[in-house]
Amino acid sequence: MRIKILLLTFLALSIQAAGKQPNILFLFTDDHALNALSAYGGPLAKIAPTPHLDRIANEGMLFKHCLVSNSICAPSRAVILTGKYSHLNGQLTNREVFDGSQQTVSKLLQKAGYQTAIVGKWHLKSTPTGFDHFEVLKGQGQYYNPMLITNGKNVKHTGYTTDIITDQSLKWLKQRDAKKPFFLMTQHKAPHGRWEPALRHLNTFEKIKIPEPPTLFDYYSGRSAASANHKMGIAEDMGPSRLMFRYSSKFTSEQFKIFDGHFRPRNEAFEKLNLQGRDRTRWNYQRYIKNYLRCVKAVDENVGRMLKYLDENALAKNTVIIYSSDQGFWLGEHGWFDKRWMYEESLHTPLLIRWPGRVKPGSINANLVSNLDFAQTFLDIAGAVQPSDMQGRSITPILRGQTPKDWRKTHYYHYYEAGGHGVPIHYGVTDGRYKLIRFPDSKLDTWEFFDLKTDPQELKSRYTDKDYIQKINALKEELTRLRSQYKVVE
Ligand code: CA
Repeated sequence: MRIKILLLTFLALSIQAAGKQPNILFLFTDDHALNALSAYGGPLAKIAPTPHLDRIANEGMLFKHCLVSNSICAPSRAVILTGKYSHLNGQLTNREVFDGSQQTVSKLLQKAGYQTAIVGKWHLKSTPTGFDHFEVLKGQGQYYNPMLITNGKNVKHTGYTTDIITDQSLKWLKQRDAKKPFFLMTQHKAPHGRWEPALRHLNTFEKIKIPEPPTLFDYYSGRSAASANHKMGIAEDMGPSRLMFRYSSKFTSEQFKIFDGHFRPRNEAFEKLNLQGRDRTRWNYQRYIKNYLRCVKAVDENVGRMLKYLDENALAKNTVIIYSSDQGFWLGEHGWFDKRWMYEESLHTPLLIRWPGRVKPGSINANLVSNLDFAQTFLDIAGAVQPSDMQGRSITPILRGQTPKDWRKTHYYHYYEAGGHGVPIHYGVTDGRYKLIRFPDSKLDTWEFFDLKTDPQELKSRYTDKDYIQKINALKEELTRLRSQYKVVE
């Protein structure tokens, strides 16, 4: 009897607590550069606005410096789920199979009373764990007619994947148990390559010349040999499928007619021109950036659909929306596409958070936050305990406008996928102004050091510059301290 009363009391308290727990909607994309999200300003903001994403920023907080711990797809997802660096969660590169038996934020939110679901890109190879509902693309998935592994069963869909991921997210929201709070991860494949736009966006940006970044033609002098050895060049490495001379999706015949009807005549006209050298690179850049921005446009529209659903179903007030991506991306800067480097454009990822009543609308934050912090932030929002073995920190005080005095002043980065797109293993530390990078590979065995204030584009390493010796030594000490704090073994 006594146990029964205690149990009932416990249940009642739990239900009360559940009533106060806000919903958490995590809207996530793959490879979304800050320069392609207009709330961040940037050179493309006027040409390719993202009004729905900007709405999240305008009604919430924009983080200028959300830095990833390992700038590549699967590892970033594992960091978000575990709140631990890659060397502890086991997902060092895209090659491993994620160990779903370990502690994850979705499991902990389930325990805290949340209904949990993931819809869209998973990319971690193992079966999702800790989700009451999962509906995920197999591997990278494709832009058209995706197959979604739906709670273990393969279900084929017809249409544009970015739209379908939203359709299925809304479907899940509509059938959920409205008495419980939800944690929904809506994770798009877009704007990951190969950039196949929606049929409705094939002509968007058609008549515009997108401005080229000033470093489109970069010869990598002034830095170590690392960056010159890249294989992510817009000039050399895009190949036929990234440039839409070959398609990756399996289209329906109706889709093919429209899609191919758009690209084929343009491709034929291009071949007749027989462009060489810089002219060819410029053409590649326009083809790439337009398709990339078209894929972003579909994301933005679908974010708008999610926001509209929350508005129309009285959910906006009690739902925290977090928008982010697995890392940043190169949009032609240094002549590149892809990510991986500890340089600014791929180290940064977008982070926008709306929490009505908690976050002052239109606020902009410049603290160093990280995808390492997401798990603990979700748990903190839910009022759940944050395990001591997680390595980030909840950003909810920052959301309230009260950055703790001892908030991190430096960020540790570690990339492990040796040779992917020619990028060697490297690790380093930044304090937001200065950045120290070590390339430990025995053939390379070198360092770089940048002063972002005087060299924001990271064109000249100052590692051997005597004026910076004190700064470099201080960052070396900090690097050693961080590697010990985070238990880095290699
Ligand atoms: Ca990615």
